[in-house]
Amino acid sequence: MSAAPVTTHAPLDEWNAFLYRVPTETATDRPSSDSSTPLTGNTLAVKDNIAVSGMPLSCASKLLDGFLSPYSATAVQRLQNAGMIVIGKTNLDEFAMGSSNEYSAYGPVRNPHDPAFVPGGSSGGSAAAVAAGLCDAALGSDTGGSVRQPAAFCGLVGFKPSYGRVSRYGLTAFASSLDQIGVLARDVRTAAEIGRTMAGTDPYDATTASDTPGTPWDPGDNPSIPSNRIGYAASYAEGLTDPIARRALENSVDHLRDAGASVIDVELPSTDEILPIYTILSAAEAFSNLARFDGGRYGRRIGGASWWESLAETRRDGFGAEVKRRILTGAFVLREGYGSRIYNAALQARDRLRAFYDRLFSQIDALLMPTTPGPAFRLGSIHDPLEMYRWDRYTVHANLAGLPALHVPMPSEGLPVGVQLLGPAMQEPRLLRIAAVLEAMGGAR
Ligand code: GLN
Repeated sequence: MSAAPVTTHAPLDEWNAFLYRVPTETATDRPSSDSSTPLTGNTLAVKDNIAVSGMPLSCASKLLDGFLSPYSATAVQRLQNAGMIVIGKTNLDEFAMGSSNEYSAYGPVRNPHDPAFVPGGSSGGSAAAVAAGLCDAALGSDTGGSVRQPAAFCGLVGFKPSYGRVSRYGLTAFASSLDQIGVLARDVRTAAEIGRTMAGTDPYDATTASDTPGTPWDPGDNPSIPSNRIGYAASYAEGLTDPIARRALENSVDHLRDAGASVIDVELPSTDEILPIYTILSAAEAFSNLARFDGGRYGRRIGGASWWESLAETRRDGFGAEVKRRILTGAFVLREGYGSRIYNAALQARDRLRAFYDRLFSQIDALLMPTTPGPAFRLGSIHDPLEMYRWDRYTVHANLAGLPALHVPMPSEGLPVGVQLLGPAMQEPRLLRIAAVLEAMGGAR
């Protein structure tokens, strides 16, 4: 059995945020673009599960070590056309599965606010790169919260557009019915501009919405929200054991009321009911999507006496423990019999959740809830996978229902905290305007 040795990875920066940096002389070349846009000359870091032509695409997995992407994701291409400069690829939990960035084959990422803490995951490298000031903004992927959760831990704006808003062409699929490319930035305006630039129909992704993104998404200098109806998930707020996170949420309610919004308490389904829907469906789709990594097509291959032996060895050696856990869970729930009954029940539960949100958003314009149960946790402090999954309990809603959502930082001492806003599908501009009103409280750092 043989395979090329895995590239030894010496961290490229203090936080291990980048897995690849474009050599400086190339990075400073201005891309050819007809006219200047608000993004021209801004630097962009790209999560290493999103393709950029000619650059490595490792998904932080040993299995894809040494693989170079032959083409660019549509989202990246559009941002480059608008004048953004890609400066490198960022670390992540292997294949975007994780909530702390401790599951990377290339070592964990550290939180720039305190290196003893995790930056969140799975887009932890992207969040750390922006928070440390290494780039103006970064792309992440959000399947169950992987843009918003690291944004929360690192004090940034994290924006996940509606499902179908941004092409997934060039994003390595984890759970295709939930995945969406999103933005990590220091302010709402930049996140809005990048989101709008990436958005729109793409012939390479049949799930992209056919309507164009429309009106400018930039919330402007003096955003206001008179007469907006904002739902407040009061029972979720009460469930927060972290007092700082709870206070941030309550302060944001006061601020929105002062700004003229009517804030209405709404009852949401228990997170204990929602999280398993995500766990089951995302694992089932991951099982199917990751079948392509067989050593025959991409990345490393370990030879064996037969094709099957080679496939088994390549996957045994190439995938980390968390990825294997998802594949096995997915294989189980897609099996004939008991397993598939679980999968079908999860599909039906997702339909009910979508119907619930359709009804809810006929009564309110946006929904305010926590992004995470509390601020960042210490590196190495969570060993139980189920405990790790519970960090996603507030973020998975938006993915299951296909809704746009974003994290907005709130003022705090110590580690960053903030709040999450969700809106009706395809209504990004209003959501961004409400986010800008909250941003005026001065929480970004
Ligand atoms: N933390 C979640 C998971 O591990 C979400 C991941 C993501 O959004 N890519 O599944």
